[in-house]
Amino acid sequence: MQRSAAAVTAAEQAGRRRSFAVISHPDAGKSTLTEALALHARVISEAGAVHGKAGRRGVVSDWMEMERARGISITSAALQFEYHGTVINLLDTPGHADFSEDTYRVLSAVDSAVMLLDAAKGLEPQTLKLFDVCRHRGIPVLTFVNKWDRPGREALELCDELLERIGLQPMPLTWPVGEAGHFRGVLDVADGSFVRYARTAGGATAADEQRLDAAEAAAVEGADWTRAVEEAELMAASGGEFDPARFYDASATPVLFGAAVLNFGVRHLLDLLVELAPAPEPRIDVDGNPRPLDADFSAFVFKVQTGMDPAHRDQVAFARVCSGVFERGMVVTNATTKKPFATKYVQQVFGQQRSTVDTAYPGDVIGLVNASALRVGDTLYAGRPAVRFPGLPSFAPAHFAVARPADLSRAKQFRKGVDQLASEGVVQLLKSDLRGDAAPVFAAVGPMQFEVAAHRLEHEFSSPVRLDRLPYSAVRRLADPAQRAMVDAGRRSEVVTRADGADLALFEDEMAMRILQRQHPELALEPLVAEGG
Ligand code: GDP
Repeated sequence: MQRSAAAVTAAEQAGRRRSFAVISHPDAGKSTLTEALALHARVISEAGAVHGKAGRRGVVSDWMEMERARGISITSAALQFEYHGTVINLLDTPGHADFSEDTYRVLSAVDSAVMLLDAAKGLEPQTLKLFDVCRHRGIPVLTFVNKWDRPGREALELCDELLERIGLQPMPLTWPVGEAGHFRGVLDVADGSFVRYARTAGGATAADEQRLDAAEAAAVEGADWTRAVEEAELMAASGGEFDPARFYDASATPVLFGAAVLNFGVRHLLDLLVELAPAPEPRIDVDGNPRPLDADFSAFVFKVQTGMDPAHRDQVAFARVCSGVFERGMVVTNATTKKPFATKYVQQVFGQQRSTVDTAYPGDVIGLVNASALRVGDTLYAGRPAVRFPGLPSFAPAHFAVARPADLSRAKQFRKGVDQLASEGVVQLLKSDLRGDAAPVFAAVGPMQFEVAAHRLEHEFSSPVRLDRLPYSAVRRLADPAQRAMVDAGRRSEVVTRADGADLALFEDEMAMRILQRQHPELALEPLVAEGG
């Protein structure tokens, strides 16, 4: 009886959850937006107040206070807060130096993404890489054009870029009034009204908003208003009319304009997440069957964080709940090893640093400590029937290095360590005919993966490694193994083989690839975004 009561709750709880990530290039304003979203939600949830009191005191102190006050749980993987009765899970996509395969894997744990663009820069490399993964997985994307308070590009030009460079139809829901740098508000495309923003002193947590009808807006804003109306109409007439179905099938993206640092547009984004972003849906298992949300507990591990301190080989596994109710202390089964995993330790670490995770529902992220038995891609479940979700795909690497044991007498430990790290997904392992088995090639999405691998080989396997970076940055799948020689003969390219047998052609850069392709037009190369899984 009790179980079925809990089961109903799981599906209901899933319905009031939104789990998403922000995809952006460093400096576009992800931290600022994250903070603005969380603080705005808090202000609204607490008192409906508009102004923050002491202003911005930095994310960390504010978040810790929020945890105490509102039971918000913060992990290095996800931030959770409530807004108008909806539970928002914002999953972190590490950027900057720690950009790695984990960054991509986070996108397997979200139901939608917010693409954050700097108004002066538009689409940037890291945003594009992350967007590719979203596209591959069919994740619906909302777009927030940030920093509109500063001089930047034209709104129409930014929208054109989305369509032309990545084939994503922009569907503006707001349109800026006043060119970038003279941002006064937005046209609300849905009802044609003007949302006027006022700057608030001292780092407010919610922007002052005033709503004017079109006639009032025209009187106040004159030519800027007329221009905004005309441009918004132009967008609507050229395929940009809002259509939720096109958002869900990921062929179009709703676009908002704002300035995270001033909280302009932040409320609109939160409202959109609540109203439009998809809630968790039944996840498809390895047999192609959806696991109902109200089935017994299940989750999959999308990130494993290993402590760098050898004295504390602590490992935290972050898992996204897919069905049922997670209750701290429950014993679950690891579908890969069929072994039980006790979750009683969730509290110990979580209790110290953050509010305890006692219960979690589909869409939530749980951090399991002492999880040395868990691997990225593992499925955890309780009860029956057993379930296993597809493993996580491997992604196109951009960094390569030849690995050799620094101490040849430790070659056996070295091999064992390398296999272990590859099985955990710390780095991808490639075989090079040129170099032989004794010198495998490590491949990574971000260079920090090499540092982690080197550290663990030395400290866990007592086999220090010598890593020699290879000058490659572009990779394609070689469709026809018979064409291997063409690539190997190139001065700035070579072929390596992945564990699944795929032949990968590595090039110094895209230019080197294009040159070789010009010499051999018959060379069949395929892009490699996210495969397997
Ligand atoms: P992240 O690297 O994407 O997390 O970017 P940050 O949130 O750290 O922001 C990078 C810089 O841009 C910081 O100096 C922010 O203050 C600034 N910034 C963020 N949002 C805005 C905005 O809306 N307007 C302006 N003018 N600056 C912003």
